[in-house]
Amino acid sequence: MKRLYLDYNATTPLLPDVEKAFKKSCKQFGNPSSLHAHGREAKEALETARETIASHLGCGPHQLLFTSGATEANNMVLHSILWKKLTTHTPGHIITTPAEHSSIAKLCPKLKAYGIDIDTAPVNSQGELDPADIKALIKPHTQLITVMTANNETGVKSPISEIARLAKDHNILFHTDAVHAPGKINISPLDDIDFLTLSAHKCYGPKGVGVLYVKNDTTLNPFIIGGSHERKLRAGTENMHGICAAGIAFDWVFTHQSQLIAHFEDLHTHFLTQLDAHCDGFSLNGAPNNKIHNTINLSFEGCNGHSLAINLDLAGISVSTGSACSVGAIQPSHVLRAMGLSDERTKEAIRISFGYSTTTQELDYFVSVLAKIVKQMR
Ligand code: PMP
Repeated sequence: MKRLYLDYNATTPLLPDVEKAFKKSCKQFGNPSSLHAHGREAKEALETARETIASHLGCGPHQLLFTSGATEANNMVLHSILWKKLTTHTPGHIITTPAEHSSIAKLCPKLKAYGIDIDTAPVNSQGELDPADIKALIKPHTQLITVMTANNETGVKSPISEIARLAKDHNILFHTDAVHAPGKINISPLDDIDFLTLSAHKCYGPKGVGVLYVKNDTTLNPFIIGGSHERKLRAGTENMHGICAAGIAFDWVFTHQSQLIAHFEDLHTHFLTQLDAHCDGFSLNGAPNNKIHNTINLSFEGCNGHSLAINLDLAGISVSTGSACSVGAIQPSHVLRAMGLSDERTKEAIRISFGYSTTTQELDYFVSVLAKIVKQMR
């Protein structure tokens, strides 16, 4: 049975050229911090990857740090605020949203326990954020506003430029988790953005490589301490093979961005048309006209989302639920809850996410299987 993968927001397969770059890099075993020829060769490969990504973001290569993933990059930015509070003995305040990824959402309560004030601007029932609500939360000691570019569960976009401008006008640092932006939304010019997070494995690159754009090094405090790697901001020998492969992956995604955006728009329209024709009793979660088009979050009346995802899995189709599994317990999605959706609708949610190789034929097949399963479950 050929499996159908519709969970590209969870992770993506390596592109063939990315796999080649990974394998090639495995032969260049030098440590980029070594001064000899092996080291210099590795250093050159490292800096080539950095320069490639920087050229697409429109920033300097010296403004990018490689990390172990987006989780680390997000943690690094938020911990810098804690560090500042501890070293300057001044109060710290972060403004965020209730729809952030767990690498921010679960960190904020920890920072609060260390005395950082945290305020959360609401999202509406469509998952949208109003910059006026962020503005209303600004205090004299606000140091950071962190808002994701597009939501991983619903695909809903945030008004990043407006919020970044607001932050700048108030002399506040602005961070965005842009993991789901490449190939789906234009993120450059970075203008008023101080920090921006990317993850290679969401862009047909390998797992374990994050990229953090840092406008000005002095605003960031190292989180992992050790050697002088990454401009002394992130210690640890760089994940060379992953980074070389990530350079190729990001290059491909940014170069093909307009085609990818058009492809996802076509798939989105096609999928919803087919779904309307073959299924009933479903609701779309998240603003349909304000989102990245590779992501669709749906609740089917009377069908538990987890059971539906399991039944689809048994039928050879991989999708995700709108809930997170922690220690064996199914937790309702914090994103859908923040939108004020009923418990029932939240438990019924599934997420479908498309990739570059997804076809309309695959979606037709998916809808036919989905319609059958939903009917059986009701
Ligand atoms: N932010 C968002 C929006 C994500 O979707 C993810 C991955 N699920 C992360 C951060 C964490 O990325 P990584 O796996 O690279 O740590």
